[in-house]
This record gives sequence, structure tokens and C-alpha cells, in this order.
Amino acid sequence: MNLNKSIVINWHVTEICNYDCKHCFAKWGRQHEIWNDVNQIEHIIKGITHHVETTNMSPKHFRLNIVGGEPIMSPDNLWNVVKTANDYSVDVSMITNGSQLEVIRPFAHMISQVGISIDSFKHETNLKIGRVCNGKTLSFQEINEKIKFVQETNPKLKIKINTVVNKYNFSERMLPSIMTLNHNKWKILRQMPFGDNKGISDFMFYSFIRNNYRESDRANESCEITIEDNNAMTESYLMISPDGRLFQNGNTSYSYSRPLTEVSFTEALSDIKFDESKFDGRYDGSFTQQASNSMEKFFKLAPESCFESMFDYL
Ligand code: SF4
Repeated sequence: MNLNKSIVINWHVTEICNYDCKHCFAKWGRQHEIWNDVNQIEHIIKGITHHVETTNMSPKHFRLNIVGGEPIMSPDNLWNVVKTANDYSVDVSMITNGSQLEVIRPFAHMISQVGISIDSFKHETNLKIGRVCNGKTLSFQEINEKIKFVQETNPKLKIKINTVVNKYNFSERMLPSIMTLNHNKWKILRQMPFGDNKGISDFMFYSFIRNNYRESDRANESCEITIEDNNAMTESYLMISPDGRLFQNGNTSYSYSRPLTEVSFTEALSDIKFDESKFDGRYDGSFTQQASNSMEKFFKLAPESCFESMFDYL
């Protein structure tokens, strides 16, 4: 393996979440979650660190991305993972739905990046998607305040926004609001087909890109936009399941490695499919360019020039 960027490993520590999104693929059949066991957390982090240091992986740096479910549902367990990773000098980031973002404020200085999943700024759309808890959805004002609150303890905390394009939000123009949030990156993902969920049509995906993507924003490194179609999301992520196995996504189910608590990271990696060039493609902009080109072709647009005029009034 000879990756061009830092290796990013997504540990889906829990399946539990306070939302119930219809497109959610964070489903592992409620397996035993090991993130309440500090020894097992340490074993896994040490194993990955050893792999990164002893193979020809380049550069010798990895980031542990804590994902769920919703990791903030169990702050004690989350703290254990963050602290252990920090003890081993591992760069830590996390993904959250943002509804309880303020909980991480005490240890926000130990995290380099928080990815917040935001699929809509409209109450009704969030209700349809399932991004609701006890009748409450997250408004733009609330998420804006929460971001400012955690950045008070870590002004360098990078904020990434993740948006899954689905049949309820595909026509929403989120860009103007997104651009006023203090964030570094907006990642637009196409809903993955999984199990009975068939994903979305090309029309829906390309409509969202057409309404929300500008080449000029992609070039802005302080606030870039990236796009991932389904192909870009398949076998391009390194992921650990709640019970501590590497897993890979397929169209209907997951495939798993042997447990990382029983075999080395290198052995577990040999059990699953992982496409290094696709991993790189997610970071070098090639998948974003592909999606943009496909959208132009789909709508038979002249390249580039169409975007600026469309957004002149923003
Ligand atoms: S917020 Fe994320 S983990 Fe929770 S239900 Fe939605 S997609 Fe799944």
C-alpha cells in the first residue's frame, strides 16, 4: 500500500443514534460494541499505529475518524476513544449529526476536525428524512451557534459539512446557507443503495449538484466542495465496525475481516477489498471533477461558464 495522503480510518463505534434517517446505512445488526472497553480501544489503536509505522505506507500518519450511529450519544465512551488516540499521538476527527455538538466542548481541543451531517435546513424536509428527535429538528441558527460554541475552546477546529443527496432534499439549494457557516469543506454524497433502499436517480443527484456546486468554490482551499457519487464511495473507505472488525460496503450487505482484537491490522486488511486509487481519488479532486463533468453532460450544459451566472444573485 502506498497512499498519497494520510490514511483515514473510520471507526463506526456505535449503531445507536437519536435520529432515524431513511437513507442510513449504519446498520450492523446491533452487534456487541467494544468502545466501552479501554483495553480493546488501546489494542486497536496500537495495532493500526504499528501497521502504519512498519509498512511502506506513505506518509506515516493516520487519522482516526470516530463515526456512528451518533458517537455523542455516549460521551464517556467517546472521551475514552479520543483520550486513548491522543495518548498515542493519533490525529482524531469525528462525524456527528450535530444535534448535541455542544457536549464535546470540554475536549474539542483534542479533536482536529468535526464532520457534521446536514441534509437540509428545512424543518419539513428533515422530518421526512428522519432527522428528528422528539419532534425536534436542527435549524440553521442552532447549528451555527453550536459550531461557534465548540470553536471557542478550539478556534482551529476544522468543520466539515456532509450532505447526503436523497429524494427529499434533491431540489434544495443549500449553498447560500452553507457558505455562511464557519466551515472548511462541504462534502456532497449521493445516497448509497443498500439492502431494500435503491438509492436515487441520476436526475436527482445531478439536480442537486447543478443547484449547489460552483467550480470557484472547489478551488477555494479554505472552504472547498467535494462530491462523491456511489462509485467513489465503494471500496474506497477503511472502516471498522462497532465490534472491532474491518468491513467493506457492498450493494446489499457488508463483508467483514477477522476481529482486530484477534489478528493484526495487516492480516485484517487482507480479508477485505480496499481500492487505494479510489481512496486517493476521494482526496485529489478527481471524483468531484468526474461528477461535475457527468452533470454537465447529463443536462447538456456548456462546461464551466454556466455556474457563475446562475449564482450571480447570491
Ligand atoms: S444521523 Fe447518521 S447515523 Fe443517525 S440515523 Fe441519520 S444517517 Fe444514521
